[in-house]
Amino acid sequence: NDPSLSATSVANDKLLDGLLVSTFDETSCLSRYRSYLYRKASPHKPSKYLISRLRNYEHLHTNCGPHTKSYNKIVTKGTEVSKNDAATKCKYLVWTASNGLGNRMVTLASAFLYAILTNRVLLVRFGFDMFGLFCEPFPNSSWLLPRSFPYWKDQKHIETYESVLMKNKANSSQELLPPFLILNLQHSHDGHNNFFHCDRGQDLLQKVPTLILSSDQYFAPSLFMIQSFRQDLSKMFPEKDTVFHHLGRYLFHPSNEAWKLISKSYEAHLAKANERIGLQIRVFNTHRAPHQTIINEILACTIQHKLLPEVDMQKLATSPLKKQTSKVVIVASLYSEYGEKLGTMYVTNTTVTREVIRVYQPSHEERQKSNSDKHNIKAWTEIYLLSLCDALITSPKSTFGYVAQSLGGLKPWILQRAYGETIPDPPCQRAMSMEPCFHYPPKYGCKANSTVDFTSLFHHMKHCEDVANGLRLI
Ligand code: GDP
Repeated sequence: NDPSLSATSVANDKLLDGLLVSTFDETSCLSRYRSYLYRKASPHKPSKYLISRLRNYEHLHTNCGPHTKSYNKIVTKGTEVSKNDAATKCKYLVWTASNGLGNRMVTLASAFLYAILTNRVLLVRFGFDMFGLFCEPFPNSSWLLPRSFPYWKDQKHIETYESVLMKNKANSSQELLPPFLILNLQHSHDGHNNFFHCDRGQDLLQKVPTLILSSDQYFAPSLFMIQSFRQDLSKMFPEKDTVFHHLGRYLFHPSNEAWKLISKSYEAHLAKANERIGLQIRVFNTHRAPHQTIINEILACTIQHKLLPEVDMQKLATSPLKKQTSKVVIVASLYSEYGEKLGTMYVTNTTVTREVIRVYQPSHEERQKSNSDKHNIKAWTEIYLLSLCDALITSPKSTFGYVAQSLGGLKPWILQRAYGETIPDPPCQRAMSMEPCFHYPPKYGCKANSTVDFTSLFHHMKHCEDVANGLRLI
């Protein structure tokens, strides 16, 4: 019982095994150094190489971040760059928001990885709907794109990656490259098979000082397809299924306002239970299956996998209640019916195992309102609370669930999509990886010059359980 050893282990836990640095002011972001009190230590340790890349990145961000000399020269100028400017070491990747919070977070983590690999500085264009969610992730600087950025509002006159790609095909001279470029990796964008995942695409992009990214996808698997990044990535992530787990815990620290909501909820509803079960119910189309079918499906799943006990309808069990063993189910859903029905069921009945089950649903927003700050902070709170659970049941194709599972280092049971009143069989399936799924990956094989199935090229990529054409790192 060497006290110095336990002090070291607390310091390790607090800094997430070296992912975080200790130099931040604790009060400005309480969650950064307190998350370890709420979440079990991860069995997945970041590699030394990843840690060194993060420290190098922080250094770069400090030197090139907003309002530095380089930033002012390269970014605010907004005019043609001379060859000299292009040769300076500061290059930028501007992240812009689209879609819901889960989509935004998986894209941000992918963008950060891309920034690390290409030595770019990641700047985020947060509107008022995102300002209050996260702490600053990088020491001695800011990741917020200043409002004086020349294209804050109007991006109509910036060239796109595709247009430059076309021009470059015709004339391979570098002189044609603009200082700013829009890189559209949206799932809905026609050009999403645009050689971004090929070395030739990267050769071109690396010469552009500022890229403005528009995406709603977890495109990190694309980066693993690029020959020139592969070695770096293998060293950073010897365990390929930990990309979001590490980068997400590095980047996303709830703001003090969000942390207040999270810690209050946790203390009041989750802390005392022996086991915490997270249930994320995302219904994309409410006409497809009635609430009751989905509840029946959830029960079929949780009973089959012994996540929750059956209720004792015949009141046969006579043994006393196991007062000591209780489980709490935290329900995240836009609709109140789920928490209410499950809660009532477990309050009015005893269970066959005599365990006490409590159900807690923090909010029911009824519909998605992703441009609202109040709405997004609730979403973030719930994603975080789910990530603190011991087991998760999630909905298919939901990035909201992906973020929770990856932060928590959990492989969830994914519900199958239900139609009508039929309960899918099996009702749910265990995910093979804690990584988010890349819903719309490229199909074009750069070497083959034809359509390929990337799972046959890379053994650490598999099609997702919940999205047949999607790709997941495993
Ligand atoms: P996805 O659409 O399921 O992939 O997840 P996103 O997070 O990208 O978009 C869904 C958005 O709807 C969330 O960001 C929230 O704004 C809202 N939403 C969906 N489900 C929930 C929920 O369980 N709780 C809360 N508070 N909001 C939700």
